[in-house]
Amino acid sequence: MHDIEIPVPTPYISWRLFVGLLLGSLVLGAFSFLRPFRLTFGGQLLDALSVLYALFLALMCFRGSWGQLRMSGPPGTGTRTGGNLIPVLLGMTTLWAALALLGWVSETMWTQRASTYPTLFHVLELGVYPFFIAAVLLLPSPNLSRLSRLRILLDSLIILATVVTLYCYVIMIPMLFEPRLTFLEKTLGILFVTANLVSLFCLLFVAFQTVHVGIRQVIALLTLAMVIFLVGKVVVYHYLLHSTEASLTTGPTPGLLGSLTLIAAAAQRMRRVLSQDAPLERGPAVLLEETEVFARWKTWLVPILVLIFALLLVSLAIQPANAYTPARLQVIEFGGTSILIVLVLRQVLATHELNKLKRELREKNAQLDTLAASDPLTGVLNHRTLVTRLDEEVAHAKAQQTPCSVLFMDIDHFKAINDQYGHAVGDLVLCQVARRVASILRSEDCLGRWGGEEFIVILPGQDLRSAHEVAEMIRMQVSQQVVASEKNLRVACSLGIATYPQTAASRDDLINAADQAMYEAKHLGRNQTCLAKLKKDTNVVSDTGEG
Ligand code: GH3
Ligand code: MG
Ligand code: MG
Repeated sequence: MHDIEIPVPTPYISWRLFVGLLLGSLVLGAFSFLRPFRLTFGGQLLDALSVLYALFLALMCFRGSWGQLRMSGPPGTGTRTGGNLIPVLLGMTTLWAALALLGWVSETMWTQRASTYPTLFHVLELGVYPFFIAAVLLLPSPNLSRLSRLRILLDSLIILATVVTLYCYVIMIPMLFEPRLTFLEKTLGILFVTANLVSLFCLLFVAFQTVHVGIRQVIALLTLAMVIFLVGKVVVYHYLLHSTEASLTTGPTPGLLGSLTLIAAAAQRMRRVLSQDAPLERGPAVLLEETEVFARWKTWLVPILVLIFALLLVSLAIQPANAYTPARLQVIEFGGTSILIVLVLRQVLATHELNKLKRELREKNAQLDTLAASDPLTGVLNHRTLVTRLDEEVAHAKAQQTPCSVLFMDIDHFKAINDQYGHAVGDLVLCQVARRVASILRSEDCLGRWGGEEFIVILPGQDLRSAHEVAEMIRMQVSQQVVASEKNLRVACSLGIATYPQTAASRDDLINAADQAMYEAKHLGRNQTCLAKLKKDTNVVSDTGEG
């Protein structure tokens, strides 16, 4: 399969024009619904215009989508195909709605009377939802951990439970209790309600997961489309319920054209997102941190929920009891209880997630501390950490009146190794020497790289004699070790020893004294260990007898 380049850098319709079209379509929708020129030529012209406009929007969704469908993603990602379908599915949503509208308008023109509710075209309108819901569910989201997905599910359920309660209170119950509505009409109404709620739930669920700005905009446009459509539906239901006509006549939902305009805008935005690869690539599963907007918004969630339920209860209390009252009370009770249960579950989950995040943070911090303290090449302590550790050990030795020794070690003729075998072999030698020295030391000793091919060993509690033994062991083992085995290379090292308190009393003096002693070892022919000179004023009895 070969990739087909689709240039989609500029939008087909500018955003300003989209806003104009949205306003125009809302006005057109309102006119079609109110039908001021009922069944006149003007009214029919308006209807025809609505159908043409809806078909035009469907075309806008499809434009360029077929080519994009055949586009293959980068090898191995395999996730593009789902996303590629979105503009086409949104196009199908719009086309289906346009066809339902066409059917409704042609019926009105044919019969020369406003169609009654429900008609075949109301049933057809239901066919819009599968396409819409499929498009929403295919919107790409990062690969989230199960914990994050569960939390997002609970968040969406809380909001959904509130919306369902409101929906039942305002629309469903009056509809179910309306004696003029037949079983078919009620069923159709319930199907619409369910389809709307499922769409909203999918949108919410995807919105909570999405971090990509472009896809967020697509979700915002689709949500607005849903809201406009829903408001239109509420208006229609209220009109039907309060209509005094014998048969219920109705036009298309007034928000239909407005929501189709927004769906076309979403399809256009999605095509832009698809023309950039990055957002659709999936990485390893991650815990989703709450984005700032949702986190801020969610602090208001509980007060808003309480307010909504309080308002519902107040409205129930102040209106005179009617046939709906017991059912409405039940809905409020049921909705409130379910939300409470989900809230508690969510709280438990959030605590669990927070603990997990804290644990991960602690582990990351520990890793960072290790990285900051170690030399990147050899993995032993770095210069800065060596200084700190030596300060601590000297302070400890002073407080406890114990000795503390320092070895200054320098690899002999290291420059020659670099020159002869190259820098990479030099690096390997440094690593292998460091590993060998570390294997000799006790757990309380510290080994660090002072710089270049110079290492420092801190030996807490060790006096000159035992420090000398350790230094000799290091010197011998290093000189016996075959480094860079394929080159059969051996290196030697020179060491200088200084001890608190016999040879120096401070950190800097200890390092200088050990360094001096190391230089003496170099002068004496290298591959040797030398002790720093004892302080003149020292009255500490040395048990080494050397120095
Ligand atoms: P001496 O026996 O007197 O200590 O001689 P030397 O060659 O070991 O000492 P000198 O100070 O002349 O050379 C040290 C060399 O270490 C020079 C420098 O290029 C090399 N060097 C410093 N840091 C690194 C490193 O990280 N990797 C490698 N491969 N070489 C390094
Ligand atoms: Mg050196
Ligand atoms: Mg050297």
